[in-house]
Amino acid sequence: MRLRCASWLVASIGVACGDVGSMGLGEASSSAGGVVGVARAHAVADVAGSSNTGGAAPDLAAARVGDDRPNGGGGASDSGVAGARGIADADAGSGTGGVPGDELAGAVESGAGAGSLVAFGSEASVDAETTTFASIDELLTSCPLAADLDAIDKDFDLVFDRVDTSGPLVCTAAQGSRDLTRPRERAYQALLVIRALEFDAPLPWTSSGLYAWLKATIKGITFLEDMSECCGTGSRGGDYLFVRLGADSVFYATELWANGAGYGLSPLVDLIVHEARHANIGGHTCPDGASDSTFEEMGAWGTEHTFQRWLAYHADPCFLRPTLPPNTKYEYQLQSANAYQLAALEVADRTAMVRFCESAPPFSDPGAEPLPVCEP
Ligand SMILES: [Zn+2]
Repeated sequence: MRLRCASWLVASIGVACGDVGSMGLGEASSSAGGVVGVARAHAVADVAGSSNTGGAAPDLAAARVGDDRPNGGGGASDSGVAGARGIADADAGSGTGGVPGDELAGAVESGAGAGSLVAFGSEASVDAETTTFASIDELLTSCPLAADLDAIDKDFDLVFDRVDTSGPLVCTAAQGSRDLTRPRERAYQALLVIRALEFDAPLPWTSSGLYAWLKATIKGITFLEDMSECCGTGSRGGDYLFVRLGADSVFYATELWANGAGYGLSPLVDLIVHEARHANIGGHTCPDGASDSTFEEMGAWGTEHTFQRWLAYHADPCFLRPTLPPNTKYEYQLQSANAYQLAALEVADRTAMVRFCESAPPFSDPGAEPLPVCEP
């Protein structure tokens, strides 16, 4: 059984897995182009409004839900993987990586609410000297420092030989980072975000912080052009996720965490969390093979839903909010303080709406359940 994930892009930032971002973002990605150095300047152009609020790009909203379908046509994207060096085991092993009862299952079993509220972030597993950022967009618009990249490499084997990472350098070693093209930068930033996220409540599917859970769950990520799934193997042994990083992915449309069109780095992080959960718990349990039977089983969709809820309600609201001044280079830039929280809830609700065949979690109601507010 392959643990293929169907694609899922919805109104806000609802991309989960599969054909993430096959919607031709060429023009959009140009906005993020250009050579950038460490600590890229957030040139505050006077952007007067630019189309950048809320729910723009409606054509991209519901449209992608249609891609939602399970198993997305089976072998279509398999071809991209076949015969890959180091991934040869992927096909054969893809049915085993996530079999319930593997050695990870117990360790990651829902520690659900138990335990002390002490290190639910990832800091417990992070070197003290690593860089911290005041907000997520500051992280995403800065080139990762070499030490941070080295730290990620120590924890995860990121494999780029199956994806086109050509293009101009957006970060350079000469500037204290590493020579990185945009795809490589985005990949590392996804892990840096996971490392940076801290929550004030335990994640329901693990007793660890998010980064520590991911580190305990997988050994690496093999990036591919056109598909995502769990799991293959790699040189470090253990499970390697397959994660789509193709040139038309939504991750390149803006440098920021999310925008009003549903693009940004958020879907990539979401995707990694989703696929990694498969390594713990196996595949989707509905007859269609693409949805989970119940939220309570905390499969990949339940985990994704929960992750988004945690972003909204348990992440540091000062970190997870738009902080950059309006700038025309950020298409559909979100501005309101709770925009990223609301975007997370939208993804959570979309997941609840379409990803469970028996029992789904309730929809969000930020009116009745107020979102935390940043109080610097
Ligand atoms: Zn999945």
